[in-house]
Amino acid sequence: MKLKVLGSVSPYCAKKGNCPGYLLEKDNNRILLDCGNGITREMSFPKELENLTIVISHLHRDHYGALLTIGYASYVYHHLGLLKEKIKVYLPKSPSLDSKYLTSMRECFMEFIFYDEKTTIRVGDLKISFKRNPHPVPTYAIKVASTNESIVYSADTGYQNNVLEEFAKNADLLICETTFLKSQKQSEDNHLTTIEAGMIAKKAQVKKLLITHFWPEIPKIKYKLETKRIFKNTIVAQEGKTIEIGG
Ligand SMILES: [Zn+2]
Ligand SMILES: [Zn+2]
Repeated sequence: MKLKVLGSVSPYCAKKGNCPGYLLEKDNNRILLDCGNGITREMSFPKELENLTIVISHLHRDHYGALLTIGYASYVYHHLGLLKEKIKVYLPKSPSLDSKYLTSMRECFMEFIFYDEKTTIRVGDLKISFKRNPHPVPTYAIKVASTNESIVYSADTGYQNNVLEEFAKNADLLICETTFLKSQKQSEDNHLTTIEAGMIAKKAQVKKLLITHFWPEIPKIKYKLETKRIFKNTIVAQEGKTIEIGG
């Protein structure tokens, strides 16, 4: 399994960063975890539209903004005869206006499917499963696993004692949000700090931690230094970076 980082910042895509998006590839199947603004800058079409499954962690715009762009590209390439299979898009079950807006999208070659915590999705030999997060809208951490490799993506989440730790237990890679530096955490618990991400990785005994969801204005090295103090095998999400997982 191979992972390409397409985006690492929020709430807007900046000159040097796109909103969250992570592209997994295995055996010619692709799974795109989140679809933030700007991620298409790191993708190549029509190739990466083929055999593509998109999973959106939640309907905040930093996580689905590029869905409209990808949808329109799928429509164009399908009409050119270069895209044969509809792109499957999984969205959290949510009565929000955003969800109505997306699923009524025209000029796209996509199929929209709702999921919740009980849903399991299979793509080739990979199994995708979910865990509900504390966050202002329905939001899910996502696990992608085969018999011998696994990736867990925290999505956006407040801290909940031992929940993400259990869900990510022994994962090869934990992609974890670190929205806040240690000094920045506010009273509302909707996002994690560098310290919390490091503690979660340590307790879950994951092999590697990829931190992400940074403020575009803050140098990434600051997040890295704080997290590494807690969990040594920490790497920083960088657009275009590729990581090999499992064997
Ligand atoms: Zn969010
Ligand atoms: Zn976000």
